[in-house]
Amino acid sequence: MFCRDCGEKLSLRFMENEGLVPYCGKCEKFKFPFFPVAVSMAVVRRSDNKILLARHTGDADYKLIAGYIKKGENAEKTIPRELKEETKLNAVKWKYLASRYHDAKDILMLGFLVFCDDGEISLNEEIEEIRWCTPEGAKEIIRKNSTAEYFLNVAIREIERKK
Ligand SMILES: [Zn+2]
Repeated sequence: MFCRDCGEKLSLRFMENEGLVPYCGKCEKFKFPFFPVAVSMAVVRRSDNKILLARHTGDADYKLIAGYIKKGENAEKTIPRELKEETKLNAVKWKYLASRYHDAKDILMLGFLVFCDDGEISLNEEIEEIRWCTPEGAKEIIRKNSTAEYFLNVAIREIERKK
């Protein structure tokens, strides 16, 4: 681990209430790690409560729509932007569900339940195919043991709690 400001090798130093935190001896400052943040969206069509699953280009199985939060943006802005960019659908309302650290990509994912209305769908190059699924159908085809599966299950519990 190296200092992002001066390039010096970081050591771990004890910080009260935080424990061991990376420290730069040259800057004489603690350097908390930075990592990207993204939203994961369980998109539900309001007319029939079906959940949108997407198969990304080159992928064999299905996941939820997700996207990075841009610098300066808040999650509330990322949700409609990403959904529109990838499918042309309009997000009508959304609810924060849970967050999870996605180790493989070193990102923090924020999970949302997102409602949309019917609309013409036009996929961008990132997505090859989408499917509207019942909760049971979605559970069957979502990639197993994935972060998407975790957020899908949280979203389904939330949908069923509200029935
Ligand atoms: Zn430094």
